[in-house]
Amino acid sequence: MVRILLKFSEKIVDQPITSQVILEQKTPVNILSARIDQQGGEILAEIALAQAEKVIDAFRKKGVDVVVRKMVEVDKERCFDCGACIALCPVVAITFKDDLSIFFNEAKCIGNTCGLCVDACPARAIKLIG
Ligand code: SF4
Ligand code: SF4
Repeated sequence: MVRILLKFSEKIVDQPITSQVILEQKTPVNILSARIDQQGGEILAEIALAQAEKVIDAFRKKGVDVVVRKMVEVDKERCFDCGACIALCPVVAITFKDDLSIFFNEAKCIGNTCGLCVDACPARAIKLIG
């Protein structure tokens, strides 16, 4: 699952955007918490990894600010780009960039339901935060 924070401005807060996205994308959005009033609002939700890209895109096209919640944090000072974490990540959330430094794709990471990279890192550079 991918955890996202949906931020609705005052202009769109009264529109049924979340239901529209669920119906249009034919995918469930698991709402964990919500705060909505006339000034705007925020919804913390989870969506399936396989649908994440298109659901996030659908919300953004409707004017919603989408923040992908970070689930792991990498200490760049400690990381020496060995690649041990890349080999173990079950969802290919970690890859090498062109300069052979590592890149974490936060939208793909499934966080504390996994955590394999945390134990794999010889430099103890990765910690779970969500
Ligand atoms: S916690 Fe799991 S899914 Fe997330 S980056 Fe590490 S290995 Fe990949
Ligand atoms: S295992 Fe640790 S040191 Fe190696 S690339 Fe991943 S974060 Fe960096």
